[in-house]
Amino acid sequence: MTSQTVSGFDLLAADDVANAAVGDEIYSLAAEIFPICRSITGNGVRQTLDILRQHIDLEVHEVPTGTKVFDWTIPREWNIREAYIRAPSGERVVDFQRSSLHVLNYSKPVRARMPLQELKEHIYTLPEQPDAVPYRTAYGGDRWGFCMAHNQFLALEDGTYEVAIESSLEEGSLTYGEAFLRGATEDEVLLTTHICHPSLANDNCSGLALLTALIKRLAKQKTRYSYRFLFGPGSLGAISWLSRNRATASRVKHGIVLSCVGDGGGPTYKKSRIGDAFIDRAFTHVLKHASRKPNILDFIPYGYDERQFCSPGFNLPVGLFQRSQFGTFPEYHCSDDNLDFIKPEHLASSFEMVASVLSVIENEKRYVSNNPFCEPQLGRRGLYGSVGGEKSVADRNMARLWVMNLCDGSHSLLDIAERSGIPFSIIADVARELAEHDLLSEGSEMSR
Ligand code: ZN
Repeated sequence: MTSQTVSGFDLLAADDVANAAVGDEIYSLAAEIFPICRSITGNGVRQTLDILRQHIDLEVHEVPTGTKVFDWTIPREWNIREAYIRAPSGERVVDFQRSSLHVLNYSKPVRARMPLQELKEHIYTLPEQPDAVPYRTAYGGDRWGFCMAHNQFLALEDGTYEVAIESSLEEGSLTYGEAFLRGATEDEVLLTTHICHPSLANDNCSGLALLTALIKRLAKQKTRYSYRFLFGPGSLGAISWLSRNRATASRVKHGIVLSCVGDGGGPTYKKSRIGDAFIDRAFTHVLKHASRKPNILDFIPYGYDERQFCSPGFNLPVGLFQRSQFGTFPEYHCSDDNLDFIKPEHLASSFEMVASVLSVIENEKRYVSNNPFCEPQLGRRGLYGSVGGEKSVADRNMARLWVMNLCDGSHSLLDIAERSGIPFSIIADVARELAEHDLLSEGSEMSR
């Protein structure tokens, strides 16, 4: 882009984004929070938020155990210090210190000696992926258990085992983080991601780290919208926030739930319940230009926290963005979802996709042509490039023709981008340029 035409919002113009350093930054933050044992409540969430707070301003909210949030009740708080299985040989064959996945998440405490046969009832494995440790939860807190690789499980020798899970289930609270960046209007863009998974890199250290990098950069920008970010445990975090912000939730004009953004699959976008909300159109448009085969899905009432934001009482325009769709990749919810599975370049491209969607949201507007009777003479104004054969020149020429043709007061920039098949960024850029040459006037603010 040339400098005289950059006047709009553009996170991608930042130096560290343009040279993809953002991918390394997101990766290293994901790696830093990866070992922490998180759950829907407890110190793992607080510890993670403390690390994110070294980079961004974040308010930490605590919702006490027993609080009613719509049809749900905040459970007892779970914390864990240690967990292991000691074999008859004396060796710790499973140790929570090696991976937080080894303990059944929300496991009640136990300290006992028992024969292998009895222990086996408390061990969870993945026979179809025999070297991976599964991620399993028992949120009721009424069970105890361990997770291990199936091959290791098969090799356990007979004898008496010692098991210990030093966990606690007590009155406490559910913790979530919230960041807010005030823009020119009270209308909000909501970005949210879950913080309740233990050591899983894609699902969802990647999402937590990407949003943190995004907040750092957005905080330096002037924006039309106000931006709200939530880092909460899946389901109960969103339900708690909605319960506490019921009256003002309708300020959310565009929303994105984001997770699993560090692998090379997809990209995947699941539409809001509304189906043709602006966020649905913006994401579809951006992903169509970012990928040859984007995976655009219709809403279903299953998935991540879009389920809560899209419940009928709220029906907010909130979609889900992922690279590979959850549940469809073999690394999902097991120890193969580790720091080798996510890559800086995929994190960087996910960041770019989200930033491009925010550019569409921020820069969307309507212009009206001052020259609607036949085409204006663009060449005379230096607006019809003739550097032979350059595709970008041809694209910009074509974009100018589309913009001049469709800026009749009833088409917005996204309308024009969709109809022309030209990326929104080019359409918006040439529209600014044509307006500078008095060929267009800015129309009324978009009412959406
Ligand atoms: Zn998950």
